[in-house]
Amino acid sequence: MDNKNFKNKEIEEAAARIAASSRLVVSTGAGISKESGISTFRDADGLWNNYRPEQLASREGFLANPGMVWKWYRERLLTAKEHDPNPGHYALARLEEILPWMLLVTQNVDNLHRRAGSRQIVELHGNIERYRCLEHSHPAELDPEWGDDPPICHCGSMIRPDVVWFGEQLPQAELETAFNESARCDVFMIVGTSGLVQPAASLPQIASSAGAYVIEVNVEESAVTHWSDLFIEGRSGEVLPLIAAETERILDLNLSK
Ligand SMILES: [Zn+2]
Repeated sequence: MDNKNFKNKEIEEAAARIAASSRLVVSTGAGISKESGISTFRDADGLWNNYRPEQLASREGFLANPGMVWKWYRERLLTAKEHDPNPGHYALARLEEILPWMLLVTQNVDNLHRRAGSRQIVELHGNIERYRCLEHSHPAELDPEWGDDPPICHCGSMIRPDVVWFGEQLPQAELETAFNESARCDVFMIVGTSGLVQPAASLPQIASSAGAYVIEVNVEESAVTHWSDLFIEGRSGEVLPLIAAETERILDLNLSK
């Protein structure tokens, strides 16, 4: 897919803003994972299409059929592990290296950002590689020898994936950090999201209202384009490496002055 509709001066403008930032928040959604070949929940493959999302990703669904839900998450975990971070993920990890004040906020649960090297991450919807106790929410380790059934916690409860299910609140501390940092940053970049999933969709608005410069990188306009000062149309795997390289070049120039 050739989708190079962006212009060099847009890359330069984004990089100049990012290089001059003192607080940078980057927010990512399903689009960046899709470029690694990971399908979204909605267009997941065949077999599971016979189920409603609520049967597979809710507390009620898990209690009604723990084995089935566990199997669904095992498959999603394997799928995530079979796919690699793409150049967009690596570019964000590189940006964090050169701009230690960068915070990454993601809606993705596939762990690709960590695998690419990002460390300061707020995971709004959890992480499919982590587990917790169903009844008491404490973190849980998984016995690698465990079979296909949902494992049992030392407290006797079942262990569940540490992801946010339908009907559940987002993790409070993560949510607060995302809101607070969006309101405090001077540059906010949103990448690969439809801008329809709340509350992540409101972050660009919060940032913009507080005076931040908002950059959007997306293959098409979204519900948050309205809040963007700079919309860059393109794939994150193509646009982000260019932005990271240009940011690095500007910082090097400033250093050598
Ligand atoms: Zn427990």
